[in-house]
Amino acid sequence: MRTASQSRHDVVIVGARVAGAATAMLLARLGHDVVVVDQASFPSDTVSTHAIARSGVVQLRRWGLLDPVLDSGAPAIRQVTFHAGGESVTRTIRHKAEVDLVVAPRRYVLDTIIAAAAGRAGADVRTGVTVTGVQRDGRGRVTGIYGHDRAGAAIDLGGRYVIGADGLSSRVARSAGAAITQVRPAGGAAQYAYYAGIPWAGMELFVAERSFAGVFPTHDGQACIAVCTPPDAAKAVRRRAGSREEAFGELLARSAPQLAERLRHARRTSPVQGMLRQPNQVRQAVGPGWALVGDAGYYRDAVTAHGISDAFRDAEFLAVALDQALSGGAEESTALACYQQQRDQALREIFEITCRLAAYPPVPAFTGLQKQLSAAIDKQAAALAARPVPGECLLATA
Ligand SMILES: Cc1cc2nc3c(=O)[nH]c(=O)nc-3n(C[C@H](O)[C@H](O)[C@H](O)COP(=O)(O)OP(=O)(O)OC[C@H]3O[C@@H](n4cnc5c(N)ncnc54)[C@H](O)[C@@H]3O)c2cc1C
Repeated sequence: MRTASQSRHDVVIVGARVAGAATAMLLARLGHDVVVVDQASFPSDTVSTHAIARSGVVQLRRWGLLDPVLDSGAPAIRQVTFHAGGESVTRTIRHKAEVDLVVAPRRYVLDTIIAAAAGRAGADVRTGVTVTGVQRDGRGRVTGIYGHDRAGAAIDLGGRYVIGADGLSSRVARSAGAAITQVRPAGGAAQYAYYAGIPWAGMELFVAERSFAGVFPTHDGQACIAVCTPPDAAKAVRRRAGSREEAFGELLARSAPQLAERLRHARRTSPVQGMLRQPNQVRQAVGPGWALVGDAGYYRDAVTAHGISDAFRDAEFLAVALDQALSGGAEESTALACYQQQRDQALREIFEITCRLAAYPPVPAFTGLQKQLSAAIDKQAAALAARPVPGECLLATA
């Protein structure tokens, strides 16, 4: 007899944050039997700032999750101020692709909202489960995962498809043998901390030589303050400074002196976190019985703050492709190849801009790339807004 720790499903997803939970939610809405596991429990944080670009906000709105995110207390951000070369320009976020705001919800809130939506849609969300490898049949096709729960009890889950949504160090990618198909020069450092006690006038971005800082207003009157720099700059300051916090303050004073001055009147409410060096890489997205989504398949420097939006976009491409394969609407090989092709095409432009920004060219070139980024995001948002919403008709009749 099969037990809860040994069961078989249409799809087994490893990783239940923005990529995995979104994929699970969409597949469950499309009527499939999905289990999604994560070694973490929710609500919990992960190392990431969390400004969601218009392209990601479009996905939240289409999936019916924008209201829950705003209701959680994440402020609607309706203006962005860009500071560069001694000038400041404030713009109201225009109504495009059916959204007129961006948002920066804390990850412990956002990820929990999406995992809960996956559960409501019928996905079996299991936390505290660590996956240690994939199972294969005699022909080498991936047929499931094995792992253990927190108490050490063995877990054995079979599936027609296994999805790695388990982030940059993806165990599924390594076990399945997913090749890295593109490697660009490694990116830079991205560090952040939360501050409270002063007002925040929307999102702010500060460009200086070899640095980029941001203010992202979030829950409870706090803002996430982030500084991106080349890795050598971040490491040199870390070596000199007495603590991470001192190093962060020094980088901020150099990158955005007017912001650093304002923060003297604010209260830091968290330690400094982040990464000192980030890869820029794309992995093969599919193979026999498996696929990757989110950071597991495509990782880019955080300087463009587009990882969450990438994960949302690719979750939808993958859910639709798997739905085709599972329902017999398309041959498996065609459906999976379509996902790989759609993902690779959709990521290309912003990946290119990210790699160029992560090289920290002089301020005028950096600013020009930011304009290109904004246009690329708008284009992507419009394309996503024009798609049919997966599972929408099933939801309407439920
Ligand atoms: C410093 C920094 C700042 C960033 N800022 C932004 C930003 O402002 N905006 C933006 O859009 N993006 C940002 N990003 C990128 C964004 O964080 C990622 O793109 C996003 O988190 C990817 O989501 P994911 O679901 O693919 O993976 P993750 O968020 O990494 O989730 C993977 C999940 O898999 C689970 N897992 C891993 N291995 C196993 C295993 N073996 N068994 C079970 N579970 C497992 C983990 O517990 C985790 O919950 C930033 C990233 C960094 C590092």
